[in-house]
Parts: sequence; C-alpha cells; structure tokens
Amino acid sequence: LFLSFEGIEGAGKSTQMARLGEWLRRSGQDPLLTREPGGTAFGERIRDIFLDPVLAPLDASEELLLVYAARVRHLRQVIEPALQAGRIVLCDRYEDSTYAYQGGGRQVPLSRLDALSIWAGPLRQPDLTFWFDVDPAQGLARAGRRGPRDRLEQEALTFFERARQAFAQRWEAEPERIVRIDATLDEEGVWLELLRHVEARVNP
Ligand code: C5P
Repeated sequence: LFLSFEGIEGAGKSTQMARLGEWLRRSGQDPLLTREPGGTAFGERIRDIFLDPVLAPLDASEELLLVYAARVRHLRQVIEPALQAGRIVLCDRYEDSTYAYQGGGRQVPLSRLDALSIWAGPLRQPDLTFWFDVDPAQGLARAGRRGPRDRLEQEALTFFERARQAFAQRWEAEPERIVRIDATLDEEGVWLELLRHVEARVNP
C-alpha cells in the first residue's frame, strides 16, 4: 500500500505522516517512511541542490528534471522493493507536489508535466493521497515559526495560492485517490481527521 502526503508549507503533512507511522508500528505494521525530493542517497543530494540558496534560482525545467531523476531512483531503489515486500509506504510529497510547485507555482504547462511524467515512467501512482489543505497565510505563519528553510518560503503568498489551486484541481480530478484533509485545525484535530480516513480506507 502506497500512501502519499501532500500540501503546501506549514500544512503539517510531515508531522501527521510521522504520527501515522508511529500508529501503524504500534498496530504491528512495519511501515516505510520516506520523502521527496529525497529518500535515497542520490535523491537526498538532489534535494540539497534543490534547496541550496547558493545555487538558486533554478529554472523550472531544471527543477522538473531534478525531481523526476530523484523520483525514478526513489521508486526503483526504495518504494517498489518495499511494496514488493508487503510494507506500507508513507511518502512525504510525491508527484502531486510536482504539479503543485512546478505546475501551479512555477506555471509550467500541464501538458509538459504530463509528457515528462509519461516519459519518466509511467510511474506508479499512490493508492491513496492525503492532501493537507491550509490557507497559504496560515501555512506560512506556521512554517515561519520553524524559520525559513528554503527560497520558496521567501516568496509571495501568490505562489502558494497557485500551488494550492493546483492541488485542488488534482483532488477534483481524482477524488477516489486524493483525500482532502482540513489542515486549518490544530495538530490533534488534523490527526483525528487523518485517522478517520485511514480507518475507513486502509485495512492493515
Ligand atoms: O516537504 P518539504 O516542505 O520539506 O519539501 C522541501 C521543499 O522543496 C518544499 O518546501 C518546496 O519548497 C520544495 N519543493 C519544490 N518542488 C517539488 C517538491 C519540493 O519546490 N516538487
């Protein structure tokens, strides 16, 4: 079972994913927790390039090729073997983030993203995606409390508003795969909502 966790900065997806990992372990599962960009030594180096202010700004094509290179390796080396072994995979960001950040945020046309996704794969889709939806102002205020971590957090709210719209479009197009979670609640409230969906849709 392949689950991905999506949302803009400060949505709380990473915190919630860690909680779900813990909850699954306590219920006797052996989940694999991973992230994008990253998840392999190769991918983590790509993530470093991606987030290095000295190398910024990357143009949108550079970003796209980097995230897909990391994703191909991640699938081959980590995700597919874990799924083969029957483990539940929890992935912090996956392809929806590409559509949100490079598509929505950086305004790469959808047709280009679709073409690249097909060219790189076709890539396995998550069985279920949790989209933690928060207003960008609230998300950035939360993320800001952790201190700016990358160049995007310096950018305007409009970037994240476009990213949020792109997540919303994906959710509307694939309501079976993508579950929208109201991430404006506090951590406990979001967790209870996540758990409700997990119990309804996941049978470990
Ligand atoms: O999940 P996390 O927020 O730690 O991801 C690291 C950052 O990488 C994101 O906040 C975002 O700024 C950037 N990113 C991106 N495009 C992607 C994935 C991540 O710009 N496709």
